[in-house]
Amino acid sequence: MKLLIAGGVGEHGRNCFYVQGERRCFLVDCGKMADTPEDPYPHLTPEQIRRAEAVFLTHSHADHTGALPWLRESGFQGTVVATEETLGQLPFAVENGRSLQALCPAGGGTFQGLSIQWGRSGHCAGSVWYRFAQEDKSIFFSGDYTEDTQVYACDCIRGHQADLAVLDCAYGRDETPYAGACGRLVRATEGLLSAHGLLLFPVPKYGRGLELLKLLSHCLRGVSYAADALFLKNFAEQQAGGFWYRPAKIDVPVSSYREQPQGIVFVSDPQLRTGEARRIAEQVLAMGGMAVMTGTLERGSYSERLLRQGRMKLLRYPVHLNHAQFERLKAANAFAETAPYHSPELSAAREILF
Ligand SMILES: [Zn+2]
Ligand SMILES: [Zn+2]
Repeated sequence: MKLLIAGGVGEHGRNCFYVQGERRCFLVDCGKMADTPEDPYPHLTPEQIRRAEAVFLTHSHADHTGALPWLRESGFQGTVVATEETLGQLPFAVENGRSLQALCPAGGGTFQGLSIQWGRSGHCAGSVWYRFAQEDKSIFFSGDYTEDTQVYACDCIRGHQADLAVLDCAYGRDETPYAGACGRLVRATEGLLSAHGLLLFPVPKYGRGLELLKLLSHCLRGVSYAADALFLKNFAEQQAGGFWYRPAKIDVPVSSYREQPQGIVFVSDPQLRTGEARRIAEQVLAMGGMAVMTGTLERGSYSERLLRQGRMKLLRYPVHLNHAQFERLKAANAFAETAPYHSPELSAAREILF
């Protein structure tokens, strides 16, 4: 079998992997690159797109799914397989979508002769890793993966065998351990709260926001929290518990944002691209507040502009692996070969035979 890397290795964004077997071809993820509007799509030929019988999604983030409408327009006729949560989170309609839970209940099953195993990857609600086996060969995809979580459940990748594994290594050579990154974030947030009184955390629609709320509410006392409608909906879902969450509850109330003069405000738009998110950001900043970015800034975004103007601080909250964690994951499994993805600092061959 052959893996063709159509995007996401040696770069951040556009994650897309084409697996070519003797009889069957499939894709894992089909993301869009935010930083290169002149060349945003995965590097797939029309022939490859026509031959792909399915695309398996690891989770809903745009760097893994944003090119799906383009894929369909470019001739893809296959099935889109993803968890029900991922399908529900996508901002566009999906033709031929199939639920992973229905196809592979209890973490395993087959699809058109392909044997599939999956587990929760700890990155957001609905995010998964996959192991595929076909023609006596196997390939593993970690998806965006972290075992260090506050609220999301993770089925740790241990003792798996595969001829090739494509593993998250988004933080590259930054080897800050999870506890160190959390400690730095909490201390800096405390300092910024005493200086500004009011902080804005722009977070992804699904993922890191709830992790931050759990961490900050656990470590800081007397802080009030407010958020936009989507954040509140996700918070209510987490508090109700269920398959995607660890049992731990968050024991602070979160109110609907109404121009509160102090505390922490979450807005579900990391790059502040929507009018509503910008309006909240402007109100917070006008009241003397400061914005805090905990993930990756996209070139040309409103968030990037705030950082340049000194109105935003960068304090990473880890939701991926770094290179040391990538090495530990390799050592805990039997992968004959590995390829790190999601970092501009680490590369791999574009075509890997296995
Ligand atoms: Zn992601
Ligand atoms: Zn990603």
